[in-house]
Amino acid sequence: MKYNRLGSAGIKVSEVSFGSWLTFGPQLDLAQIKACMKVAFDHGVNFFDNAEAYAEGEAETLMGQALADYRREDLVLSTKLFWGGKGPNDIGLSWKHLVEGTKASLKRLRVEAVDLLFCHRPDPNVPMEEVVRAMDVLVRQGHAYYWGTSEWSAVEIMEAHLVARELGAIPPVVEQPQYNLFVRERVEKEYQPIYRRFGMGTTIWSPLASGILSGKYNDGVPKGSRLDRIDWLRARLDEAKIKKARAFGELAKELGASSAELAIAWCLANPHVSTVILGASNPTQLRQNLGAVEHRSKLTPEVLARIDRIMA
Ligand code: NDP
Repeated sequence: MKYNRLGSAGIKVSEVSFGSWLTFGPQLDLAQIKACMKVAFDHGVNFFDNAEAYAEGEAETLMGQALADYRREDLVLSTKLFWGGKGPNDIGLSWKHLVEGTKASLKRLRVEAVDLLFCHRPDPNVPMEEVVRAMDVLVRQGHAYYWGTSEWSAVEIMEAHLVARELGAIPPVVEQPQYNLFVRERVEKEYQPIYRRFGMGTTIWSPLASGILSGKYNDGVPKGSRLDRIDWLRARLDEAKIKKARAFGELAKELGASSAELAIAWCLANPHVSTVILGASNPTQLRQNLGAVEHRSKLTPEVLARIDRIMA
């Protein structure tokens, strides 16, 4: 396993990591979570991602119980704040919710601090000064070691940095964007200035586009799969994506890799990706996806160009 710094920050994250969205709680109980986390950890994964919104806090509660098996120093833990409940002050990035949400997450996770604390979305209803000051205080008070953004535009991230500079506050060091063969623009183009000017790292999500890039939907929607269970995600599946996933699968086969392995290896080939957050609903998927690191050398310039043509 390779460990990357998060951009210019000192902390090191395993190049592949493990997340809990839609799986911890609804699909995986504590015993299964422990089994998956052990598979990940034994492969060298040190970074585990969570959010207050996942299974309405249950994903953090379950991960918190599973963490008892590990030495805290061996782990990089994150959580994300934005959707903390139904009340007007349970949502968004107000100072009040950022502090209350963080305290509740830490309690569920049973830790004194997370390593990375993300603002899960930008909040146009809260002044940037308020968000930056609140995150600065949370870091200075020891509730988190670094803070970051998730799905913020480059302009919003830049504004956060400029405000932090003005206030003498701690700026964000990491962004958590979606990045996969279907969603590339932001990570490859829009964020270039924030890598260059601010040394931001990225912890990228949905490397398989919710499983589509594993090829599992090429011949219909399997019963019990994510897209079978979740209507709004299924609505995004169309013929064009399936056609691309099929052609990509052919290429993967030719290279001696599974579609999932090649799709994840492709994410790893981007030098601005600090870690690829894997999702898996069982240990077998996770083992397969962790194997992606072995296929990185197959992504020669010629193969990358063929992939671009398939996805065009
Ligand atoms: P993926 O795109 O990799 O999708 C994972 C899902 O695809 C699995 O749960 C499983 O679903 C299916 N799958 C995975 N591997 C295989 C395989 N080898 N063969 C067949 N099916 C497979 O990642 P996620 O969308 O789960 O995102 C990863 C993590 O990123 C999340 O857990 C979360 O931590 C983070 N995230 C962050 C977001 C943000 O806004 N910041 C948003 C979304 C995710 P199934 O078996 O049920 O079909």
